Amino acid sequence: MWSFRDWHRKRILARFAIEPTVWQRVLDSLPILDGLTAEETERLYQRSILFLHAKRITALAGVELQTEDRLRLAAQAQLPLLHLADLNWYQGFHEIVIYPGDFHSPQKHRDSAGVVHEWDGEHSGEAWLQGPVILAWPGVQESGAWEGYNLVIHELAHKLDMLNGDANGLPPLHRNMRIEDWAHTMQSAYDSLNATLDADPDADTAIDPYAAENPAEFFAVTSEYLFSAPDVLHEAYPEVYRQLASFYRQDPLMRLQQLQQSHPQYAEPH
Ligand code: ZN
Repeated sequence: MWSFRDWHRKRILARFAIEPTVWQRVLDSLPILDGLTAEETERLYQRSILFLHAKRITALAGVELQTEDRLRLAAQAQLPLLHLADLNWYQGFHEIVIYPGDFHSPQKHRDSAGVVHEWDGEHSGEAWLQGPVILAWPGVQESGAWEGYNLVIHELAHKLDMLNGDANGLPPLHRNMRIEDWAHTMQSAYDSLNATLDADPDADTAIDPYAAENPAEFFAVTSEYLFSAPDVLHEAYPEVYRQLASFYRQDPLMRLQQLQQSHPQYAEPH
């Protein structure tokens, strides 16, 4: 059956097609995309193009974005959604604002809808309910390796969390998942991390202690680890890994282990 939506998508993909060599450079620069199948890579390419068409990326003074920078951002934004049904998971915002550095208080930004946002503190990212996603450029540049850090995935995980209201660490789960299992698993791991830090604020925790701030940060930080250090997350919190793998419908640990078995550069633990 002829579908306007498919026709429209095809038109966008044709109109904004990227040179294969440029896309290949994007893939080569993001180790966390290593090991994706050809089919997954093609889907990631299409969704990245559509994402850049749907969202406005605003670079503030001091940041100059090249096509490859935009594609790197889009590809990392789309990685978590790669196996989620083709619905608009990143709804409710239209703009991603790139700051030249971590931002300090007080901050003000007028988004494309004309809403002025103000906030305090020093951050490398912010995700507003019904507002833009704000990313600091150095954090974006540091993202993409298997290093347990990914600012893009972190902030966009907040957006997934906000799909059913305030950021509280509970995104809309699939029908085959149980809220009780999710809540129990996340709460136990969160409590355990907090207990460790209460006993010793300088404790060398397995994951970034920022996850102990609140349940929303726990979800965002563990989502970051799922895609950028799945081995670390799985070892520290295997049940959290399983819940997140069910939510994102991906098994990045298996992908990483296959890379470690078959690629010499992955033979050494990262
Ligand atoms: Zn956060």
